[in-house]
Amino acid sequence: ALAARRASSHGPGRTADGHPVRLYVNIGGAGDAAAGTAAGAQGVGLLRTEFLFQGRQTAPTHAEHVAAYAEAFAPYAGRTVIVRTLDVGADKPLAYLDMGDEENPALGVRGLRLARRDPAFLTEQLAAIAEAAAASGAEVGVMAPMVATAYEAESFARTAREHGIARVGVMIEVPAAALCAAQILTHVDFASLGTNDLAQYTMATDRLAGELADLLDPWQPAVLQLIAASAAAGVAAGKPVGVCGEAASDPLLGLVLAGLGITSLSMAPASLADVRGTLAAHTLAQCRELAAVALAAPSAPDARAAVGRLVRERA
Ligand code: PEP
Ligand code: MG
Repeated sequence: ALAARRASSHGPGRTADGHPVRLYVNIGGAGDAAAGTAAGAQGVGLLRTEFLFQGRQTAPTHAEHVAAYAEAFAPYAGRTVIVRTLDVGADKPLAYLDMGDEENPALGVRGLRLARRDPAFLTEQLAAIAEAAAASGAEVGVMAPMVATAYEAESFARTAREHGIARVGVMIEVPAAALCAAQILTHVDFASLGTNDLAQYTMATDRLAGELADLLDPWQPAVLQLIAASAAAGVAAGKPVGVCGEAASDPLLGLVLAGLGITSLSMAPASLADVRGTLAAHTLAQCRELAAVALAAPSAPDARAAVGRLVRERA
């Protein structure tokens, strides 16, 4: 019984009937990496790399890059680690990088767009990731933030593969990318939905605007529809489409996401146990039913309430 309990608190994510949904953690620094293994994660679904660049006056050296990635990969031998390339601009500024005068920084040169101005930002980082990955036992992939077009996905994938990185993906966090997910997926191995920015850009609501929090709710019908479209494109292409925004840490929403065809959920380590347990208590058919109920609801509170009601009835 103890072994079974340990398996259920640390095993891979599965629905009650065995459908796999991989459970990953989001990591914000090399020093946090071990928290994911302690929580029983199957890997890292989002390694944010801004920590390497923020809070300093000069760019990190190649050796500093490699050492930080090596430290982050070390606990994950034999497991997946998805490294997100630098996502600065807007809510993530850099002291030593003058972004110029941008009227709307959230709509400006941020994420992958920085590589248009200065390709070295991307290529230096990819070279260091590839070097650290080769020396680690982890299955390392990279993904680009703020991709809006299939062309950007294609050019990022080409650059990453030129650096010897085998698994290449993009984030879907701009509505355009969700709408073009099928085309985007022809160029990459996987995609991961960043629901924090996807909600911001879909709802035209600053993600830092506390008084508008109701509009940023990932249960908003428009956000759910874009998630559903992206997941369906993944199912059709036979390629993984996960979620790595805060939405993945909501156990009820996790059921809906599984029902939509999302293949992995990446979250703060503290949320893993709840999400794993809730998933294990529902079959894939039930998740699909909950997804249909959520998609049919006219508002975020209605969607959450309708799904919650069905789940409680079953318990
Ligand atoms: C997101 O946008 O949902 C995401 C995971 O990335 P970040 O919060 O770092 O922008
Ligand atoms: Mg984002």
